[in-house]
Amino acid sequence: MLTLDTMQIDETLLKTLLDGKPPEESVVRQVLACADHARGLSLNETAILLKTVEPELLREIFECAGRVKQKLFGSRVVLFAPLYLSNHCNNGCLYCGFRASNSSLERKSLSPEQVVKEAQALEEMGFKRILMVTGEDPNSWFDNTIKSVEAVYTETGIRIIHVNAPTMEVEAFKELKKAGVGVYQAFQETYHRATYARMHPTGPKRDYDYRLGAMDRAMEAGFGDVGIGPLLGLHDFRYEVLASIAHSAHLYRRFGAHAHTISVPRLRPAEGSGLESVPSPVSDEEMKLTVAALRLAVPTTGVVVSTRESAELRTELLHTGASQLSAASRTDPGGYAPEGSKEGKKTLEQFSTDDHRPLLEVMKSIANEGFVPSLCTTCYRTGRTGSNFFDTTIEGDMETRCRANAILSLKEYMVEQAGNNRAENEELNRLFDSVISGSFDEVKDERVKRSLAEKLKEIESGKRDLFF
Ligand code: SAM
Ligand code: SF4
Repeated sequence: MLTLDTMQIDETLLKTLLDGKPPEESVVRQVLACADHARGLSLNETAILLKTVEPELLREIFECAGRVKQKLFGSRVVLFAPLYLSNHCNNGCLYCGFRASNSSLERKSLSPEQVVKEAQALEEMGFKRILMVTGEDPNSWFDNTIKSVEAVYTETGIRIIHVNAPTMEVEAFKELKKAGVGVYQAFQETYHRATYARMHPTGPKRDYDYRLGAMDRAMEAGFGDVGIGPLLGLHDFRYEVLASIAHSAHLYRRFGAHAHTISVPRLRPAEGSGLESVPSPVSDEEMKLTVAALRLAVPTTGVVVSTRESAELRTELLHTGASQLSAASRTDPGGYAPEGSKEGKKTLEQFSTDDHRPLLEVMKSIANEGFVPSLCTTCYRTGRTGSNFFDTTIEGDMETRCRANAILSLKEYMVEQAGNNRAENEELNRLFDSVISGSFDEVKDERVKRSLAEKLKEIESGKRDLFF
């Protein structure tokens, strides 16, 4: 029996909304006028944007999404890195290098001690936030994840750990939450049932409905923040965007908070994958529309763009509403602190990435675009999660906090990463100091401004982990 609590995707409705010719100019502009208020859009309104093809109108959609992002979160761009725990998996997802029947992959599960080494390598680069990722080894993935989370919190300075892992029962979600995980993330991959069945021929992940109900179970277990997303390239991207918004709206109706993040991973080549080509290719322009539509429909969500995308496209997506980027990513367990030589060995990777720049280079390019690279982890650690985060953000009260916290995290990064090379330090300081002072001037609340100035001095004199 279906109840209000059951997450369902109405495929007929979504297809009907996407049917028909591109909309008239005036209709698109009406939707944008509404979107500019940063209160979100209906599925019908979002479908109008997704059907738009005229370049000038697309440009207006992208600009509007950039404005809305700026209005709610200011110019900060949050950075994190994935940490792969294991590439063992008993699922048959056709697109993935970790799928059970891929014999060209060398399998490896990290012990909690090895995970700590990986986390320390990321910490040395400057990361404070990591996303643990794992395949589904039925005997060990859950216990290993819990032990790894606990070990990293105890042994390193990593401040928040999010997890992208197989779905589970409510009781297991409760344990994960108790271990201190911030966001639970899992992608539906495709919301189109027939495509889902084709892409997931074997393993527990075959069950479309169980996967679709994962976020309900996570939120029932007490996760205020969950991350969803489609794997773009499996089915029509417009359908997947609308379905992701419907999924997020369902969580809002039931739990009072939209999806904390919506990721937009796009299919990449993977050694040993079961796909010979991309079933429904998504162009770069369509990626921009995807990000912009999600930003305008669910303004409070973090739109996450990974290193699956090129450096150039990631830079463009910052202007069309993206708010979180991964950086320096490895998709092989043990990739950050490798033990022994890799020469002649088989791959351990899930898929190949496109943006290979180190964290510092990504931060520089964010700064050069006029944004503030942020390593902030405040919300999860101060209880600003779930409906509390949603209410604060939609009322426009996050902008100042995000701005101030981004400035503090950037200052901390500069002080901690200052090396022996004077010329390099000077160059870095010039760039980031100008970002900090530009963003500081835009803090409107005088009390916050005074306190921020004091906190910046405290960081210089050795204090750490200061925030608003
Ligand atoms: N194994 C768990 C699962 O499937 O939910 C945890 C995460 S899995 C390692 C991470 C995500 O990588 C998948 O949800 C999928 O969206 C994405 N992925 C898999 N193969 C990919 C590929 N070839 N290109 C891009 N992303 C891929
Ligand atoms: Fe396993 Fe996840 Fe890859 Fe599927 S996507 S094969 S479940 S690691």
